[in-house]
Amino acid sequence: MSELHDAIIIGAGPAGLTAGIYLMRAGIETLLLEKALSGGMPVNTERVENYPGFPEGISGRELMDRFAAHAKAFGLPVKEFSEVSAVEYNERMFTVKTTEGEFSAAGVIIAAGTEPVKMGIPGEDELLGRGISYCATCDGMFFRNLDVAVIGGGDSAIEEGLSLAHIVRKVYVVHRRDALRAQKIVQDRAFRNEKMEFLWNKRPVEIGGKGQVEYIMLEDTKTGEHTRVDVSGVFVYVGYRAKTGFLGDLVERDGSGFIVTDENLEAKTKGLYAAGDVRKKTLRQISTAVGDGALAAVNLERYLLEIKP
Ligand SMILES: Cc1cc2nc3c(=O)[nH]c(=O)nc-3n(C[C@H](O)[C@H](O)[C@H](O)COP(=O)(O)OP(=O)(O)OC[C@H]3O[C@@H](n4cnc5c(N)ncnc54)[C@H](O)[C@@H]3O)c2cc1C
Repeated sequence: MSELHDAIIIGAGPAGLTAGIYLMRAGIETLLLEKALSGGMPVNTERVENYPGFPEGISGRELMDRFAAHAKAFGLPVKEFSEVSAVEYNERMFTVKTTEGEFSAAGVIIAAGTEPVKMGIPGEDELLGRGISYCATCDGMFFRNLDVAVIGGGDSAIEEGLSLAHIVRKVYVVHRRDALRAQKIVQDRAFRNEKMEFLWNKRPVEIGGKGQVEYIMLEDTKTGEHTRVDVSGVFVYVGYRAKTGFLGDLVERDGSGFIVTDENLEAKTKGLYAAGDVRKKTLRQISTAVGDGALAAVNLERYLLEIKP
């Protein structure tokens, strides 16, 4: 037998916690399921500088602790360490299967975020956790006074490179093009930082070392020439994709797994909404996740009122 709720939210990041605040405040009985601890991706971000209301910036963890405290103040039950493995739909009810049992509700908000894309090169799997990381804030301190490479040219790569530069001796930024994609203010900061060296038009083809990262092999995207760069760590920021396989054919997705919604954030199935990074959209930030969470919650509330017998 599955435990019955009015609404279920999947994922306790900025989108899911915001949706929870709105639903609970509207008097909708809600359960939030989270596969790890509450907070989502921002808990791994050293400093958030662009979330309104914090002119001096705020640590990602502190910001998300405040989101969680706000949700708690409205009595939102959050079931941590409950990973959703499948969602099924039958006679206007969703059944959500998790590692901690089954739950049902008439409405569901997916706020499950994204996961980093791997490079898919030799050495990446073997040396994961032995010098290869997808989170500078989590692992940066293991590389004090050592040389590291950051792969990528977007906001995540450059911001994380800057935070690594406080700890390590040198940060090589490896980018396959000759210009960064990161916001200009972030680029300017990186170009001014003496610890950062930019390796343009290069793509990694191998990461090597005996039980620990010792080097990265780069290929020049113009000449095909290979260069070995000795580093102790490699931080990978080549993109993110949504892991939405657990939704089967209840949603339409783009090529990277992002859920396609209408302007009310409803997916293909009535009563199923997507909010935050998991959704096909043009800007993935805390502020847009918060907006999505609010919108999905209000539309789910209207839907629940509509179907109420
Ligand atoms: C390095 C980096 C730096 C960033 N810096 C900034 C910044 O400075 N400012 C800014 O605005 N944005 C920043 N972002 C982007 C920001 O973190 C995201 O846009 C935001 O976290 C999206 O929120 P979300 O709630 O959609 O997803 P997430 O924060 O990813 O939360 C999703 C949650 O769902 C859970 N989950 C996933 N699958 C399941 C499942 N099957 N079952 C149960 N739970 C599940 C996850 O564990 C997670 O807790 C940064 C991102 C990165 C990677």
